Amino acid sequence: MRVAENEVGRRIERFKAAAQAAGVKLTHQRLEIFREVASSLAHPDADAVFREVKRRMPTVSLDTVYRTLWLLDDLDLITTLGPRRDRVRFDANLEHHHHYVCERCGLARDFTSTALNALPIPDAVKRLGSVVSSHVEVRGICGVCAKEKTTRTSLPVARRQGEHRRKKRQRRS
Ligand SMILES: [Zn+2]
Ligand SMILES: [Zn+2]
Repeated sequence: MRVAENEVGRRIERFKAAAQAAGVKLTHQRLEIFREVASSLAHPDADAVFREVKRRMPTVSLDTVYRTLWLLDDLDLITTLGPRRDRVRFDANLEHHHHYVCERCGLARDFTSTALNALPIPDAVKRLGSVVSSHVEVRGICGVCAKEKTTRTSLPVARRQGEHRRKKRQRRS
């Protein structure tokens, strides 16, 4: 699944402008690494980006992919999902959106909701510090995994089938 071509083009123009403004050299490798994140709907982690980019540029290293992804994060061109201690996943969709995450296969998909955009931030959060942005992560077992479930031995996660927990957390944008 890929992002629409005109949206990818828009993201790449934003990347070029941000790189120029920050005095960051626009190398072919950086551009291709950004293009991969910008055109994926999968919220790939560094390994997944590396695998895809390597097909077009066999000389690219995983280290370069990591450093470039964090550079793009510093330039606010991409954001990350989930706690940093886990495998970090990168997201080039900067519009206000929310995530559905499958707890078994890790599928992550964007969705939009004006109702969720307007969720009030509790005072308890405001007492902890300023709020830059927030988004909702809906977790569950995706349709594909739910079908496969019957063929697998019972893992604890199977109990959670159909359960959708909502978690609201802060994320820097
Ligand atoms: Zn799944
Ligand atoms: Zn997203």
